[in-house]
Amino acid sequence: MNRTFTLFLLLTVMASARTPVHYRLSMSAPSTHLFEVTVTVPPGNAPVDLHMPAWRTGRYLIQDFSGGVQDFDARNASGETLEWRKTDKDTWRITRPKNTAVTASYRVYANEFNQRTRELNGDHAFLDPAAVFMYVGGMTDAPVRLTVVPYGDWHVTTGLERAAEGEDEFTAPNYEHLADSPVEVGRQTDIPFTAGGREHVISIYGEGNWNADTLVRDFRAIVEENLRFWGRLPYDRYVFLIHCQPNAGGGTEHLNSTIMGVRPFVFSDPAAYTGFLGLVSHEYFHTWNVKQLRPKAFAPYDFTKENYTEELWVSEGATSYFDDLIMVRAGFRDERWYLDLLGGMIRSDRSRPGNAVQSLAASSFDAWVKYWKRKENASNAESDYYGKGSHVSLLLDLEIRHRSGNRASFSSVLRSMFEDHPPSKGFTNEELIAACEKAAGAPLRDFFRDHLYGTVPLPWERTLAYAGLSVTEAHAPAKGELGVTVTDIGERTRITAVRSGSPAETAGLEINDDVAALDGFRVRAGEFNARIASLGPGTTIRITVFRNDRLREVTATISGPALPLYSVTRSGTATPREKEIFMDWLGLRR
Ligand SMILES: [Zn+2]
Repeated sequence: MNRTFTLFLLLTVMASARTPVHYRLSMSAPSTHLFEVTVTVPPGNAPVDLHMPAWRTGRYLIQDFSGGVQDFDARNASGETLEWRKTDKDTWRITRPKNTAVTASYRVYANEFNQRTRELNGDHAFLDPAAVFMYVGGMTDAPVRLTVVPYGDWHVTTGLERAAEGEDEFTAPNYEHLADSPVEVGRQTDIPFTAGGREHVISIYGEGNWNADTLVRDFRAIVEENLRFWGRLPYDRYVFLIHCQPNAGGGTEHLNSTIMGVRPFVFSDPAAYTGFLGLVSHEYFHTWNVKQLRPKAFAPYDFTKENYTEELWVSEGATSYFDDLIMVRAGFRDERWYLDLLGGMIRSDRSRPGNAVQSLAASSFDAWVKYWKRKENASNAESDYYGKGSHVSLLLDLEIRHRSGNRASFSSVLRSMFEDHPPSKGFTNEELIAACEKAAGAPLRDFFRDHLYGTVPLPWERTLAYAGLSVTEAHAPAKGELGVTVTDIGERTRITAVRSGSPAETAGLEINDDVAALDGFRVRAGEFNARIASLGPGTTIRITVFRNDRLREVTATISGPALPLYSVTRSGTATPREKEIFMDWLGLRR
């Protein structure tokens, strides 16, 4: 190639890299649940590959969003049809003449309530853009422009930047930014407020008994507590999207927004409302922990396949740990509540047989095939990067405080990791371990070998003592245990879990057995549990079950409680340093 031609090619490539990929989203017939999408790709010569993501951020599960795509078509700027064919389950390849712009169009079926992926109906539209917009192969770094055409009088709420005030035109610096910015379109109520010098919006779809002033007061407190934790807000504007609907729950974190579900009437129930604020605390903490400070495997996200990482215990576990602490530090929960929570954590950790089977690192890595494809024997066979991840985070926090003489903590490690590891770089467990050792001023290899890569039981008693706490085993009234979970499903009462090593397992009870009778009398789940609990250890019972419609009877011997209840209290003999660690840890005034 001669030099002029090379330069020409280079300039063409640079120009097309700067020309936005333009998406247009419309929803002319919401009750059909079909989004209408067009993607316009700047002029070029090579075939255009459009890829539909196989998964969305926050849920580590292959979902194959291409399954909802229909009516695909591709045209040039004059509206003439271009040839295309599919090359794999997620890819549409369009061939084009030289220097031709391409506009592809397709529709997406969107009727997935509470999945936080894509939903369009007569009431509203919600989309995680990864579940709706294809990306252009080789152009994921190109800027993006999005035009939304709302249905009727609906309006748009999103964390994306508006190209011009009053218009439904949005911009993003690249595809990943678009994919991580959910969009709500409907008659949602938008409540703006300022915190930490930045604009925030609480956007609620659906009716409920919420009070705007209360929400603003409480959300602001959570923002400000996180600002104290992390040192700065990593965004200009943040949007809390809320779906206020019967049976709604859970949430997903995004770049500068979150989508959360809540039931309509929890706002007047103090316990349920504080529980909802706990969800807000969790999702908002993710703005730093997983969106900014993210596993190296997510830098960048690869939407074509599983992104394997052993670091989810930090992204989810540490978030689940600190979301509770933030609630205490912000004044929504008190010291007594947290001490009770600690007792519950110890019991839940020790009552999960899977913690002795699968390491925390393996639980993170296999999230794609285990955690998100939950099987009925999960608690027997698997650890849990949320639950155990939060327990290990807690013990690590106290270990660092203890070793460093309370000069450092897991919080201070995360804060410096957040500054040193931007989203483009990511972090690894090895880097985190090195940062923890530096902060502690002591080697912590054994801690991570035992509790991240191994399955050594967690040293609750020893570690909680660093904060001047003592653990006692409370003597609960002797309740009989069988080791099964039974659930009423329609007219049937079904065994949905059997704990390994339990009397139920020894007796030969199986998951999916339908309980017909206990000692000859018909029972439902509530009565079954009450009667087992009322029996003393050593009592023999007859359980009649249907298995594959065949009646059979097993005999089981009730055991005593597999585990005691744990009570965590402040020790009368705590040293001044231990008391200081406790006060700083919970953010109490010394
Ligand atoms: Zn989370």
